[in-house]
Amino acid sequence: MVLYNKYPSVLLIYTGGTIGMIENSETGALENFNFDHLLKHVPELKRFNYRISSYQFNPPIDSSDMEPSYWAKLVKIINYNYDSFDGFVILHGTDTMAYTASALSFMLENLAKPVILTGSQLPIGVLRTDGKENLITAIEIAAAKHPDGTPIVPEVCIFFENLLMRGNRTTKINAENFNAFRSHNYPALAHVGIHIKYEPHLIHKPDPEKVFKPHYLFDTNVVILSLFPGIQENVVSSILHAPNLKAVVLRTFGSGNAPQKEWFINLLKDATDRGIIIVNITQCSSGAVEMERYETGYHLLEAGVISGYDSTPESAVTKLMFLLGHGLSNQEIRYRMNRSLVGEITKRER
Ligand code: ASP
Repeated sequence: MVLYNKYPSVLLIYTGGTIGMIENSETGALENFNFDHLLKHVPELKRFNYRISSYQFNPPIDSSDMEPSYWAKLVKIINYNYDSFDGFVILHGTDTMAYTASALSFMLENLAKPVILTGSQLPIGVLRTDGKENLITAIEIAAAKHPDGTPIVPEVCIFFENLLMRGNRTTKINAENFNAFRSHNYPALAHVGIHIKYEPHLIHKPDPEKVFKPHYLFDTNVVILSLFPGIQENVVSSILHAPNLKAVVLRTFGSGNAPQKEWFINLLKDATDRGIIIVNITQCSSGAVEMERYETGYHLLEAGVISGYDSTPESAVTKLMFLLGHGLSNQEIRYRMNRSLVGEITKRER
């Protein structure tokens, strides 16, 4: 549905989630609203001189039901419309938004246009909603260009409340507060107040020589295993022997430390010997894994565990699913996990 014919142009994709809900005036229940009626609910959009088109998932999904097949669908929509729009805004439930943002950052290789995810804590049809501001600002960011016509933010981001963040660095940190997302290990790409203050030196600069390439494949034979004092051998063993398991995101303590018990290290070693990739990330919100720092971390290195550096769990697990989905060898996946593909980890390239 085309709302305007003037440039710049933004494609709005509604996947579901709280933002797209309105209160049924008769029953009081929250229902998904039809995006064909977007202008009725967000008349402020008329004040943009933008061409805004919309696409709606049918039916819209709660983001707890998000799946790689929906990520592929999003990539298909973006790829199909890539040349026709200046930017893309994806409205998404907040619960798994950071997973989707991470996945899309890997799937949209050589992306040179903004893909901005946003949502809200209160439905757009509720008086005190945060949805309108999030939506309006996300659209403005998706359409923003430098004087030479190139986009200001040509990467996958999450915009929420007042922060524009690199998508694969974000985590949902609050189930109630309007300020619900953080990028702990990479600074915000823009702060939004009276002005939108972009940080150009932090924003990815696409290589104009490289052609946009969409990817669709994932292998979901992965697990996130979070350690805790008292974790039992039979539990760890049954996870590491799960049929078809190919990779583990191991959430360790502090700077990448884990129990030194023999059974634990032996189980990890046996798993890596069987070709299972184990990536070490920290349970702390900020900071990176340094397995060389303490003996407890060193044992993990010796067991064949690789570092996830300062990766979020969302980014580590989607990166593994993405790499596994492309049929790469164990060695190639370990090599790529050790590198930043799209700014998802802080690591100097050698
Ligand atoms: N459960 C909703 C979802 O993630 C919550 C939200 O939209 O904020 O889809």
